[in-house]
Amino acid sequence: MRTKITASSLWDGERLLANPVIEIEDGQIASIASGDADGKSASAGSGVGPFAGATIAPAFFDVHIHGAASHDVMEATPEALGTIGRFLATRGTGSYLATTMTAPLDATLRSLEGLADLIEHPEKIEKSAKAAHQTAFPIGIHLEGPFVSAAKCGVQPKEYLQPTDPAIFDRFYEAAKGHIRLMTVAPELEGAAEFVRHATARGVRVSLGHSDATAEQTYAAIEAGAASGTHTFNAMRALNHREPGILGVVLTCDKIYAELICDGIHSRPEMAKLWWRAKGAERAILITDAMSAAGMPDGEYHLGGFPVQVANGRAMARGVLAGSVLTLDRALANFVEFTDAPLERALRLLTVNPATMAGFADRVGKLAVGREANMVVVNERGKLIAAIRNGETVASYSAA
Ligand SMILES: [Zn+2]
Repeated sequence: MRTKITASSLWDGERLLANPVIEIEDGQIASIASGDADGKSASAGSGVGPFAGATIAPAFFDVHIHGAASHDVMEATPEALGTIGRFLATRGTGSYLATTMTAPLDATLRSLEGLADLIEHPEKIEKSAKAAHQTAFPIGIHLEGPFVSAAKCGVQPKEYLQPTDPAIFDRFYEAAKGHIRLMTVAPELEGAAEFVRHATARGVRVSLGHSDATAEQTYAAIEAGAASGTHTFNAMRALNHREPGILGVVLTCDKIYAELICDGIHSRPEMAKLWWRAKGAERAILITDAMSAAGMPDGEYHLGGFPVQVANGRAMARGVLAGSVLTLDRALANFVEFTDAPLERALRLLTVNPATMAGFADRVGKLAVGREANMVVVNERGKLIAAIRNGETVASYSAA
C-alpha cells in the first residue's frame, strides 16, 4: 500500500523543494514530487501530514553516542541496543555509530564482538518487523579511546589507555569485524601519524581529540589522513595565539570536519557561533556524545562502568563533565538558536556531513527514491515536530 507524506517544504540533503509529496511503499521512498503551490493536491489522499509550515528532512545520523535510556552501547546486547534505538527513533535519529570508550582491553574486545554481530544482524535487536520500524540501528562503531592523551582523557579511565600500537588496533578491528568506522586519536601520542595512516588504510576515519597536541603535531596527523576533530573545545588544549594547538588547527583547517556537542553546557553559545563561522556548512558536524542518562530523569547513572550524577541536564563524574544527555533534535534547535543559521544549512550538520565524513553517504543522510523513508519534520526554528521511520510516525510533538 502506498501512503504519502506532505509538508510545506522538503530538504532532501541537497535541495529545497516546495510543497513536497513523498510517496512511500513498503517503508521505502517510491517517489518525490512537488505538489500544488496552494498545497491542495498535497493534502489529498491518505498519509501523514500535511505538516503546514514545516520542513521534511532526512533522519539524523549521530557519529558519537555512548548510550541512552539507561543503557550503554558497550553492553552490546539486543536488549541494550533495542532500548537505546527505540528512544533515539523518537528523537529523529535514524542511525548512529555505537561509541565505545576507554575500558579494559578484554571488555572492549567483548563489546566490539557483540556490536559487530548486532550491526550485521539488526534482526537480533528487534525480532518483529513492526518493532524494527520504530527503532534506530547502529551502522558502525566509533572507538573513542583508548588511544587518547592521559592529560585530556576527561572521564576516560587513565589506567586503560593504550599506546598507538597497530597490533592493538588490529585486534580491535578484527573483533569488530571491520565495523570500526571512526576512531578518536590524540595526535601527540608517540607514533600517532603512522598509527593514523595504518587505520586510514583500513577505511577507518580518524578523529583528533582528547588531546593536548601542538599545532604541528595536529598537522602531522592530518597529513597522515585524519578526517575530523572530536567534540571541538572539549578535552582539547585551550587556544593560545602563539601556539594554536589542536583547537586552533581543528577550527581553521578546511581539510577536516569537526564535531560539536551543542547543548549550551559543554560550550557556551558564543563558542558554537565561533565554531560555525570557522567550520561552515560543509565541515561542521553536530553530535550528542550522549550517555545512558539521555532521555532519563535526573539521578545516578553509569558510563563505561563508573557512576555519573545527572542534574539539570549536566552529567558529572569525578568533578568533570561525563558525556551529555543531549539528543540530536535538541542539538539542532539549540544550534539554530545560538547561530541563526538558515535551517537547510543547519540540517546538513546532522545528515549529509556526518554521513560523508564517516563514509556512509550512500546509505544515510539523504532522502531519495529507493531509500528507507526515515525522516524528520521540523519547524522553521529546527524544533522536531515528527519523527518518521519507514514511512510511519514514531513520535510527534507540538510545534509550539
Ligand atoms: Zn564521547
